[in-house]
Amino acid sequence: MNSATRVVIVGGGPVGLLAAVLLAREPALQITVLEPGAEPGPLDDALGFRVYALSRASERVLSHVGAWPVLVPRAGAYDRMVIWESGHGATGLGSLVFDAEDNAEPNLGHIVDHEGLCFSLWQKAAECDNVCLRFGIGVEALDREARNIRGSDDHDYGFDLLIGADGGASQVRAGFDIPVYEHGYQQRALVGHVATAEPHDYTAWQCFLPSGPVALLPMINGQCGLVWSVDEAEAEALAAMSVDDFNARLTEATESVLGKVALTTERGVFPLKFLHAERYCDTGMVLVGDAAHTVHPLAGQGLNLGILDAAALAEVVGEALAGGQHIGDQRVLRRYERWRKSENLLMAIGLDGLHRLFKLSAPGLPPLRRLGMAALNRAPFARRLLIAKAMGLGGELPNVARAVA
Ligand SMILES: Cc1cc2nc3c(=O)[nH]c(=O)nc-3n(C[C@H](O)[C@H](O)[C@H](O)COP(=O)(O)OP(=O)(O)OC[C@H]3O[C@@H](n4cnc5c(N)ncnc54)[C@H](O)[C@@H]3O)c2cc1C
Repeated sequence: MNSATRVVIVGGGPVGLLAAVLLAREPALQITVLEPGAEPGPLDDALGFRVYALSRASERVLSHVGAWPVLVPRAGAYDRMVIWESGHGATGLGSLVFDAEDNAEPNLGHIVDHEGLCFSLWQKAAECDNVCLRFGIGVEALDREARNIRGSDDHDYGFDLLIGADGGASQVRAGFDIPVYEHGYQQRALVGHVATAEPHDYTAWQCFLPSGPVALLPMINGQCGLVWSVDEAEAEALAAMSVDDFNARLTEATESVLGKVALTTERGVFPLKFLHAERYCDTGMVLVGDAAHTVHPLAGQGLNLGILDAAALAEVVGEALAGGQHIGDQRVLRRYERWRKSENLLMAIGLDGLHRLFKLSAPGLPPLRRLGMAALNRAPFARRLLIAKAMGLGGELPNVARAVA
């Protein structure tokens, strides 16, 4: 008879795979990951077209599980972040500059590609004896009472703890009738890679236009990752237009801050929404990553929050096992919920507010906004606090996200 505690993770995206690797350190657990998509890798030299800005806290967690060395050749460090409002120039009144040096940090974070990240985590998970990775398999049915998942392979996967890591449209969350606060931004993000006439100077550039922010994220290959949030109709038009027309529009939108820009990959389009689960757990079930919270990508924080969720959950589960508690017990899972919900809500509401602030165009407001940004730019203490928050170093950190002494 198998006496291991069974954990089933639904979703083998970055957060689900990381949760598997972190939890695998507990030999008492037998972990299964169900993911309908294909197994990651093998990697080629080209970076995947979807990139993330990863914080220092995320880098520490990924280093702790041994995934970071695989990512290093694909990870572009950025030292500065420049934010400005369209029409006023990247160096004009109201532009904000965040510099790693101000916080005595070697950089502000890294830009990595989705493929590299998932492959590095998949490799680590595949090395664990107590992790079973089932790619190409989704959820056919979920029985809460019987604590069972029927996979699309017609197998039954019984669980003592079910982890919903299945993204914004989480089937696990729906299966447990967890209500959500949700609103669409009526926006989509266009992503891809661009070559720029001027070097990116290891700087993340972000211009706020009336229709939404456009960001050029410096990658290790000298090109930039593009994240351009625009209203839905404009997104459709931008996605459909010729590459030459798109390049011209993008060069204009970025105010030629890096000269002419030219797409080097396909364009991807992602709908944007705010979503927060009312509860992160139930008996025998817990949500992590986008399944619990989906935020606007304007500050590149969504995945970073999910990485800290996985780390916090693994810590709480480890403590429960050491204390002889059942890991599906709500008292255990509520500890994780209390910890992460407050941190995530603060960030989610902050980003939502920032998005709204830059969308407002009431008379008198734009100049006031620029004055506020200029004041912030001259307030080193406030800037240092914001940098620390963006680097994931504020709040209560899981042990694996803390600096190694
Ligand atoms: C344009 C854009 C730019 C972004 N940039 C950044 C950034 O720079 N930095 C940052 O930190 N965040 C960023 N984010 C947010 C980031 O993409 C998400 O927060 C992150 O992908 C969440 O990871 P996840 O593993 O929780 O969910 P997902 O990445 O959505 O993965 C969920 C996984 O679950 C699987 N799945 C879905 N349904 C099922 C099911 N029924 N059964 C089993 N598996 C299922 C999916 O196939 C997928 O593999 C950005 C988001 C967007 C849209």
